[in-house]
Amino acid sequence: MAEKGHTLSKSTFIRGVQCLKSLYLNKHRPFLRDRLTPEQLAKFRRGHEVGKLAWQLFPGGKNGAPGHPSQYAKALENTRKLIAEVTPVIYEAAFSHQSVLILLDILVKNEQGWHAYEVKSSTSVSETYITDAALQYHVITGTGLNLQSFNIIHLNPDFIRDGIPDVHKLFSIQEVTEQLRELGSFITVQIEKSRETLSLKHSPSIPTGLHCNKPYPCDFTGHCWKKTDKDSVYSLTGIPFETRARLAAAGYLTIQDIPAGLLEENDAAILSSHLTGKDILDSSGIRQVIDGKGTPVFAAFLIVRPAVPVVDGFRPFGPMIVGITWNDFQGNEGSFIAEPGESPVYQIRKMLVQLASDGSTIAYSGGKWVNNALRQHYQDMTEKFIFTDIEEIFLSGNFYRPGLIPDAGINQIAAFLHLTSADQTMISQTMAGVKYMEVREENREHTLKELGTALSAEVASCRSVYHFLKNIINNET
Ligand code: SF4
Repeated sequence: MAEKGHTLSKSTFIRGVQCLKSLYLNKHRPFLRDRLTPEQLAKFRRGHEVGKLAWQLFPGGKNGAPGHPSQYAKALENTRKLIAEVTPVIYEAAFSHQSVLILLDILVKNEQGWHAYEVKSSTSVSETYITDAALQYHVITGTGLNLQSFNIIHLNPDFIRDGIPDVHKLFSIQEVTEQLRELGSFITVQIEKSRETLSLKHSPSIPTGLHCNKPYPCDFTGHCWKKTDKDSVYSLTGIPFETRARLAAAGYLTIQDIPAGLLEENDAAILSSHLTGKDILDSSGIRQVIDGKGTPVFAAFLIVRPAVPVVDGFRPFGPMIVGITWNDFQGNEGSFIAEPGESPVYQIRKMLVQLASDGSTIAYSGGKWVNNALRQHYQDMTEKFIFTDIEEIFLSGNFYRPGLIPDAGINQIAAFLHLTSADQTMISQTMAGVKYMEVREENREHTLKELGTALSAEVASCRSVYHFLKNIINNET
């Protein structure tokens, strides 16, 4: 069933489906790849941990691919042997067909025959997962193994932790065999296209576009996008990336090309801001968010979204506020970061009451996950006290300056507006969450200190942006 060597793997095949140029560069110009961010590395580790946990759904299996990924010939041989011995459960089963090598997470043999299971660290089945599974189905059945079913195991979005998770409740299994069969000819054509691309002398000429970000941010962005002109349609940072990509695909490559009247009202205002170099300023909108709401206490939240919930009451990827740092107009300040593994809800609640019960408004930089966490676990408090999300002003377009990225986070916004020193070390909300999840005894003290500093920096950004906006509206009256 095995062939010597291979030219494609699951990940390079998916890379090629997204963009053939990326496939080519990855093979022939790997040095042009952007460096993996710590967030991406953490995502890989998380995927691996969830995959291992799902093995418990089919315990007692044998590993088909122990050792280093480069030992694929040994993995193929092991798997072949385990299948020949009719091993009931095989983890990391390796297959190769038409020079495509894949590792299947779990292969199970029962009375009906062989069943394939692929584990995804996600709460739903995406189109890309189906494509990925279709490739695996093509390769496995191509080796002559008769698969009765192909299934995707993913985290159950309705699971709420109550004690040590039962893997049978934590995971959901979705059979996708029929969908994969329907994709058979697409897979065959795509393998051929990938092979042809890899044999080219030069990278294929593919313009940048929506595919650079979807389904995954491409790691050749630094290379392909470095010559993007400052007048490019992509410089309209206030307009959603999808809209910019659509405009570019329609031939409107520079901001001067875009006809008046083509864009919706908000996007048209962004375009006009770029063409004139003037800020967008909706004072009444800004006032509605920050004016007349009591003295602000500035706060920053530390947020995590563990794939497998670590404390009771949370779902997979459920946003959980695990820390808060604040300071007020009098210079008082405070901070709390929960011990990893302990429920932070009681302490965070206590702190919010302490901050807001004198009528102060809690001014914070939200972001999607902080706001979700507040809604899900502290709704009674958000109804009782005043919470002011400063980022909302930028997300709703009440303030825009050409080049500002409204959803970049308060630290980036403050830096863009020259309100914080450029050399100040900042950690993104995501990175802070990643660091928190990786606290261990040996790095505990250092990491918690680092996170405390990051939260203080975010509070400072929040405060400076608040004053910046307040000055604008004060100067208008
Ligand atoms: S940045 Fe875009 S065009 Fe360049 S390789 Fe990646 S997906 Fe393709």
